[in-house]
Amino acid sequence: MKKYIFVTGGVCSSLGKGIAAASLGSLLECRDLKVRMIKIDPYINVDAGTMSPYQHGEVYVTDDGAETDLDLGNYERFTSSPLSQKNSITTGQIYQEVIKKEREGRFLGRTVQVIPHITDEIKKRILQIGEEDGVDVTIIEIGGTVGDIESIPFLEAARQFIHDKGKKRVLFVHLTLIPAVAGGELKTKPTQHSVGTLREIGIQPDILLCRAPYKLDEGLRNKISLFTNVETEAVISAYDVKTSIYEIPLVYHDQKLDDIVVQHLEIDAPHCILDAWQNVVNIYNSSSVTVSIGLVGKYVDLNDTYKSIHEALVHGGIANGVRTEIRYIDSESLEKEKDLDKVFDQVQGILVPGGFGQRGIQGMIDAARYARTRKIPYFGICLGMQVMVIEYARSILGMDDADSTEFFPTCPNPVISLLAEQADIKALGGTMRLGRSESRLLPGTKIATIYTSDSIFERHRHRYEVSNSYRKVLQDAGLIVGGVTPDEALVEAVEWPDHPWGLGVQFHPEFNSKPIKPHPLFTSFIKASLDKKRNEQ
Ligand code: GLN
Repeated sequence: MKKYIFVTGGVCSSLGKGIAAASLGSLLECRDLKVRMIKIDPYINVDAGTMSPYQHGEVYVTDDGAETDLDLGNYERFTSSPLSQKNSITTGQIYQEVIKKEREGRFLGRTVQVIPHITDEIKKRILQIGEEDGVDVTIIEIGGTVGDIESIPFLEAARQFIHDKGKKRVLFVHLTLIPAVAGGELKTKPTQHSVGTLREIGIQPDILLCRAPYKLDEGLRNKISLFTNVETEAVISAYDVKTSIYEIPLVYHDQKLDDIVVQHLEIDAPHCILDAWQNVVNIYNSSSVTVSIGLVGKYVDLNDTYKSIHEALVHGGIANGVRTEIRYIDSESLEKEKDLDKVFDQVQGILVPGGFGQRGIQGMIDAARYARTRKIPYFGICLGMQVMVIEYARSILGMDDADSTEFFPTCPNPVISLLAEQADIKALGGTMRLGRSESRLLPGTKIATIYTSDSIFERHRHRYEVSNSYRKVLQDAGLIVGGVTPDEALVEAVEWPDHPWGLGVQFHPEFNSKPIKPHPLFTSFIKASLDKKRNEQ
């Protein structure tokens, strides 16, 4: 019997619903259950691909090339649930599908309504995943906050699951905030209200995850239980963890969250084996050495724009038994900076991440030049690799006007350009290369040694490529091409010669790193940065 868990949020946004859902997923996987994760985003956009990082943080890309919400990245880091376009549902997709059917006349003249047509489409999407062979539990996170107009159809569809499947197959987990007022007293009223709002739409939560600055005492949990009808043992204290988010599955397990879930859903599952998570937390907590990485990008003021890279750098630290400290450096301000020694003081590695558009590019080029000439470990990801190539052409080939046609369409030396431009097929325009594909790594290169393989699969999200007309002259000048597509048409990775660790990749390895399985490129980059630190001491 397949089971469904809905995770909703109350009081306000940004309480960490994605991490809560992912942590619950990891606990159930540790009990040998096959889990699937779905994120519902009630916004009208069809996907996150067109949304600015200022609006929505990182765009997370799945193997099949879906551009999704960053919570899917949390699912990937905490669970082994396979993720694709189907795991990310938006209001835009649901309405697009229902309106398409209506235009095709498939409703046979009936009035098309939110209930049942929109809710049926929502349920169909959830069941498509949840009813797959072998799946035990599907966790569906409903984005936004209970009470938002946009989430009502999704909550209604969730309510209907109890009607359709029966109480023993559906569970509601509500993540809420218990704020502390002046003097530190914890207040339960906002939670009473948000549970009240859920009840108005026919949903009685079974479990409350209460976010609070510190652990709730028994008295407070009893009080919340009394007002909400949730059993005291199911009022879980989701207090702020002091060290790492990877402690959260352990915090929940200590309060028997997984036991409560399996009992409610009447699942016969073995006990939790949490050794892998415990190990990650132990390493993190016991590491006394810190490696400092400068991340040079243009969206550095915002939390979460570089979420997957941030986490992958932390994982690389865990693999080396050290803590990674990430220093965010604004590339636009860097352009005006005269003294780069000051900016990069006490930084042992520099990373330039992906990005779009011209703003801040010169600062990234300056950072790459500084890293190359000062022999500081440098990791260029997507745009960060393109920047490496532009900088190399300018400094080593003397092409002062080398650029990407993304930033300078008529530039005389377009070392980075659209494939269509290279072939002079202007009408095609640029289409994004998205999702997982193969790269071949060339023998003897650093990247091949790091992966210990000559064939790898990583995810892409870009339009521009290293221009093939410049490939040979760049290689003749020393730039090493470490990876190419299987047909050798596109450059996938470059390396600086005579440098301890200067590597750029056109793909996004950060999407494939987990705390319990750090990505080899991040492990190797942190190791090189750590070596630099040790050499300096
Ligand atoms: N803007 C560059 C391109 O489209 C890089 C994209 C990225 O870094 N994700 O090719």
